[in-house]
Amino acid sequence: MTKTDISGEMLTKDEKFVWHSMKPYNPNATMVAKSAEGSWITDMEGNKYLDAMSGLWCVNVGYGRKELAEAAYQQLMELSYMPLTQSHEAAIKLGEKINQLLGEDYVIFFSNSGSEANEAAFKIARQYHQQKGEFHRSKIISRYRAYHGSSSASLAATGQAQRKYKYEPLAQGFLHVAPPDTYRNDHSEADRWGAKNIDEVMTWELSETIAGVIMEPIITGGGVIVPPDQYMSEVKSICEKHGALLIVDEVICGFGRTGEPFGFMNYGVKPDIITMAKGLTSAYLPLSLTAVKREVYEAFKGTEEYDFFRHINTFGGHPASCALALKNIEIMERENLFARSKELGKRVMTELKDRLQSHKFVGNIRGKGLLIGIELVSSKDTKEPLDTSLVNRVISYCKQKNVIIGKNGMTVAGYNNVITLAPPLSIEEEDITLLLDTLVDGLNEL
Ligand code: PMP
Repeated sequence: MTKTDISGEMLTKDEKFVWHSMKPYNPNATMVAKSAEGSWITDMEGNKYLDAMSGLWCVNVGYGRKELAEAAYQQLMELSYMPLTQSHEAAIKLGEKINQLLGEDYVIFFSNSGSEANEAAFKIARQYHQQKGEFHRSKIISRYRAYHGSSSASLAATGQAQRKYKYEPLAQGFLHVAPPDTYRNDHSEADRWGAKNIDEVMTWELSETIAGVIMEPIITGGGVIVPPDQYMSEVKSICEKHGALLIVDEVICGFGRTGEPFGFMNYGVKPDIITMAKGLTSAYLPLSLTAVKREVYEAFKGTEEYDFFRHINTFGGHPASCALALKNIEIMERENLFARSKELGKRVMTELKDRLQSHKFVGNIRGKGLLIGIELVSSKDTKEPLDTSLVNRVISYCKQKNVIIGKNGMTVAGYNNVITLAPPLSIEEEDITLLLDTLVDGLNEL
């Protein structure tokens, strides 16, 4: 059998047996991966691709780390399962480690995915207010264009109508406001860079009906929307004024993606609840968590049946995932990957601006650390999003040159005109050069 026969046979079976996420089945676009090492994926035919998206923005330490596999293996041999109705050492140690990274007093609830971590956050926020005797506080505010997950409430919190309308009705009680997109909207100090609208919505809806706000420090999947520096602390003080909790979704921004351990650390705020997934294990195994400020947790400590958090998941905080996450964080600290993300991010941003700012289709280049978005427009004056077929041409060009980049956006309904880059934080300098050269060539091809 030739290599092509092998992948051809796999693609036939793939079409027959595997339901893919988010795209019509297209054998030309589908890669059947065989192995991966560092920032590189090898497919069934032996082609190698530089993964400049870390999978789905998640393989922060890169692929193929033997010590991560060993940490999981050793844990599985010692204790393969224990639900967190009881406890186990790996979850305790990981909870302690997360607290150390946060530098604050948080209690950790474990789940399996980002969506579940957000679902738990919403339930905790709502019940917290009930515990305090504020029975009407159920509404959660989030921003248009943000993505918070695929389950009923996390999708309801998501601000991208295209993903939602076929599955409605979703969970109730989610309201949306405009994102702090300073490229497309005229946000200024006068409207507190968009935050003032959150204040108004809370007032109009009645403060005593608001449970909280959920936000990513930088909206990632909605097109890498980097807010003005003051925006997040502005939102936090608005939450405090109205008695609402600030839930920060660190599913992508966490674990060094933005050049700090967590994205909110760029903005000097202290969230009430923080959700994490993806980079927590660098996606070697599923694990997510909801970190809850001690004062919030304390409200659940009564002795009555209705005082505890009535929420359980079978696999959340799996011992192997927790042991692996601890080793993953150890690697990040040993190799200084948070600082590396900041430094490499500066290099990427400088070079992109030097080489692409004057390109006729490049409207805006933005990001922090190794989280970068390049917004493509057909006219710099009107900011009309570049046609999807042209955005796809850049992506296909890069793929043909063995570099995987991403696209996102929802800038205008249906338009995904923001090229995204989120390589492993361990990416080699020479691979950054390859990535930038390929992307610039791809754009020049247009
Ligand atoms: N929050 C954010 C910001 C995300 O990007 C994602 C997934 N891309 C989620 C939540 C949901 O995570 P999961 O896919 O693990 O459920």
